Amino acid sequence: MLDDINAAATLQALDAAYHFHPFTDHKDLHARGVKVITSAEGVFLHDDKGNKILDGMAGLWCVAAGYGRQELVEAAATQMAKLPYYNTFFKTTNEPAVRLAQRLAQITPEGLNHAFFACSGSEAVDSALRTARVYWQTKGKPNKKIIIGREYGYHGSTTLGASAGGMADMHRQAGDMPNFAHVLPPYWYGKGGQMSPEEFGIYAAREVEKKIHELGAENVAAFIGEPIQGAGGVLIPPETYWPEINRICKENDILLIADEVICGFGRTGKMFGSDYFGIKPDMMTMAKGITSGYVPLSAVMLHDRVAEVMINDAGEYYHGFTYSGHPVSCAVALKNLELIENEGLVAAAEAKGHILRAKLAEAVGDSPLVGEIRGVGLIGAIELTADKRTRKGFAKKGRTGTICRDLFIENGLIMRAVGDTMVFAPPLTITESEIDTMVALAKKSIDQTYENVKSEVAS
Ligand code: PMP
Repeated sequence: MLDDINAAATLQALDAAYHFHPFTDHKDLHARGVKVITSAEGVFLHDDKGNKILDGMAGLWCVAAGYGRQELVEAAATQMAKLPYYNTFFKTTNEPAVRLAQRLAQITPEGLNHAFFACSGSEAVDSALRTARVYWQTKGKPNKKIIIGREYGYHGSTTLGASAGGMADMHRQAGDMPNFAHVLPPYWYGKGGQMSPEEFGIYAAREVEKKIHELGAENVAAFIGEPIQGAGGVLIPPETYWPEINRICKENDILLIADEVICGFGRTGKMFGSDYFGIKPDMMTMAKGITSGYVPLSAVMLHDRVAEVMINDAGEYYHGFTYSGHPVSCAVALKNLELIENEGLVAAAEAKGHILRAKLAEAVGDSPLVGEIRGVGLIGAIELTADKRTRKGFAKKGRTGTICRDLFIENGLIMRAVGDTMVFAPPLTITESEIDTMVALAKKSIDQTYENVKSEVAS
């Protein structure tokens, strides 16, 4: 708690005066007042009012190893004292960057052996997309420029990332560059109609093939997809989807980019979402869980078949960042990967995910408001519905989700609302008793939400 109640009020006022926030309606923020987060430990956040809040979102899907890890603090401090910074442009490197590149090559799927470093998921995506285009230029096919993404996809907030993603609001705000196309997401609950999930998985994958044929494979550089679409509402594809996408990309000579920014580093109960679904990417983007969010870092892993062209034939690559291969970030990432491995957090995510979903199903599965509880490892969602039997949405999309999200926060639990879908991704270190707390808070909030919107819900 901040010592002085005035200090909190001062911070709020200063924030309103000077701080322009990401993804925020500022009028609304200033009317409500910003919440000051003061400290965190394990899976809990503390705010300036003395509230203890269970972080069911691991920050923004990133704090895999939990808050307050002194090992990570020490790794950063030790590296800062030794070499706080040096670039990797001047035919120079540093030990943490080299060791991390090697470690990533070891833990990513076969063939992804070359790491390019950046700071954010968006930068990793930009780097992968530029690389895809330079790859095809170098191979003598400069027309292969178009990137295919999916509706509700999220690939970051730079102009290329927003264009690759499928968020209409972002496209509208100067986030729609030329040479991007979008297709149906493999979102069975919302889009599958009468098809079985398996049939719909094939159907959604063939939409990619249809789009490639419509555009001409000779004009398409890459398909980019999150193994599970996180920010779009934790859309988990049916198991038939990704194998079909592998086939389609291979047959049409299109690069496949797996955006593992959320799914990477154990979130799905496997090290990568690509391991879970059997995706065979040419490039993989990663961030967030790589350092558990303690310091900014991202990477693109290039498959040998891409790297060979870029190394042997592309000449100088005019791309990179001041902080590419930042020694402090890489040192923290190495320590974080050691924690994930030593503490068995990947297997724990799988086991705890089962427990969490079973307990949620028991607590709220029968609520008329809950259409589906889905998840893989420790990423999941609760679909709020106006009609359980028909999977119908609410007339005013997003209103119920917002009510529910606000009640969650009031009750001391953070889950995010994507439309009327409540999404969660707690730290992989969450214990069983913390899962019980999370489920009890979720039940209380969902029951209260139901009381609010009862008249709109088929019972
Ligand atoms: N790709 C995916 C799949 C993401 O979920 C995100 C962030 N939520 C990004 C890219 C962008 O990452 P950043 O916000 O670090 O730029």
